[in-house]
Formats: sequence, structure tokens, C-alpha cells
Amino acid sequence: MIKGKVVVITGASSGIGAATAKLLAQNGAKVVLGARREVRLQELKQAIEAEGGVAAYQVTDVTEQSQVQSLVDLAKAKFGRVDVLYNNAGIMPQGNLSDREYAVWQKMINVNIMGVLNGIGAVLPIMQAQQDGLIITTDSVAGHIVYPASAVYNGTKYAVRAIMEGLRQEEKDHGIRSTIVSPGAVATELINSVGNQTITKNLEPLFHAAKDSGLTLYPEDVAQAVLYAIDQPKHVAVSEVLIRPSKQE
Ligand code: NDP
Repeated sequence: MIKGKVVVITGASSGIGAATAKLLAQNGAKVVLGARREVRLQELKQAIEAEGGVAAYQVTDVTEQSQVQSLVDLAKAKFGRVDVLYNNAGIMPQGNLSDREYAVWQKMINVNIMGVLNGIGAVLPIMQAQQDGLIITTDSVAGHIVYPASAVYNGTKYAVRAIMEGLRQEEKDHGIRSTIVSPGAVATELINSVGNQTITKNLEPLFHAAKDSGLTLYPEDVAQAVLYAIDQPKHVAVSEVLIRPSKQE
């Protein structure tokens, strides 16, 4: 059921987004990749094409509404429709509220919340006209549980879950489905966005844990959840997939 679907992916240059792009393309999707690091996007497009897949990319900052619109417009112009939007770009700065890092909070809210809204706003008219579409967003276990020194990150992920539930309610009668993918720890470059040195050091073992440790997932594990949601027939809406490393609280 995924074969031939046009899938726009934000945050496609590394981690979960890149692994998902590869897996979806291997299963016959046409993937349209967005992120800021062009070299990574170029390399990923080439890797997908070398395996016989179909990919396009456009440098995209999800905090800029016009850039997200342009990414979605590229998908529509190149492939004729947009079947799936995967809102996946995100950052995870950590710290206490008493640190008063206003600029960091603003940036995180812009990427993690406004980035998702920019994606939803860009695809809704297309999907409404198609009377068909699926919007998937990477949320987190941090959208269910508040962790120490993580109030703002958790806040963004709680907010995104509420937005996605609102989307589900508003659009379910228009043929548009929505899926929240909520992973626990995943070994990715997200650790580089933590900022605070002490917290980074404390989190590092989690982000570099071995596959068989049960302490961390790998991006390919999360990609499987995205594939599952897309691969369902139209009468099945996968509302949320919560996926933890086997030993995570
Ligand atoms: P990565 O750091 O590997 O990936 C983050 C992606 O987001 C990159 O492709 C990055 O690309 C992109 N990105 C960041 N800022 C922007 C921006 N302004 N505009 C466009 N793209 C941007 O980490 P993950 O793969 O782990 O993160 C993906 C998602 O998964 C995030 O939403 C994260 O919150 C969520 N998540 C991660 C968990 C984990 O433990 N790793 C657990 C639960 C959820 P570029 O820098 O090139 O723009």
C-alpha cells in the first residue's frame, strides 16, 4: 500500500528522518527530503537512487513557513500529489527554567511546534482537495512524561500531541488521517542539540548504547513504526505508536 506514495519528510538529513526516508524508498515510496544541511540531503538522495529508489530534496528550515510551503509545493509539482507529510524535524535543548534561556526556548518552540504547524498548514489544502492524506509527527515519550531539566522540550512535545489530536478530530471526516510516533531514547545526533555540557555528558551513554543493551532504540526501529502507519489501508488510522527501548522506564 505504500508503493508509489509521495512522502514529504522534514528533518531528513540525519537520525530518524534519514533512516525513515531510506526504508520508505526501499518499499516503493517517492520521498521528498527537507532539512538545512544540503550535503547530507544530497548524499541521502544519491544513496536512495543507488538502490533504485526515487527521491528529491530541498534545503528547508522548518521555522520558515515559506520554505516548508516550497518543499511541499516541490513534491506536488514533481510527483503530482502529496500522500504523506512526516513532520520529524526537532531539537532537544535541556536545562532548568531558572536558567532563563529565552533565546533557546524560542528556538525550540519555533522548530518543534511552529515547524509542525508550518507543515500541517502547507499540506492541508492539497490533502483536502485530494480527500486523502496522512500526516505523521515525531513526538516522544517526553510528550507523556516530564523529565528533569526538560520542561520546555517536554512542553513542546505535549503541545504537538495536542495539536495532532486536534488535527485528527478536525480532519477525520475529510479522508485525512494523522499519526503520532512517540519514541523513547534513540541513538541519534539529537544529543548535539542538548547544549548544557553536564546534561550532555549524563545523556551520552544512552545515546551511544549498544543495540542489544535495551537502553536505546536505533533510527531504523522508529522507521518501522512510520512504515507501519503508512502501509495501512484507508479505513485504518494508526493514531499513535509509543515505542521504547525494552529497558526504558
Ligand atoms: P537528529 O538530530 O539526528 O535529527 C534532527 C533532524 O531535525 C535533523 O535532520 C535536522 O536537520 C533537523 N532540523 C533541526 N532543526 C531544523 C530546522 N530548523 N529546520 C529543518 N530541519 C531541522 O535527531 P533525531 O533523529 O533523534 O530527531 C528527530 C525527531 O525525533 C525530533 O523531533 C526529536 O525530538 C524526536 N525524538 C528523538 C528522540 C531521541 O532520543 N533521539 C526521542 C524521541 C523523539 P538539519 O540540522 O540538517 O536542519
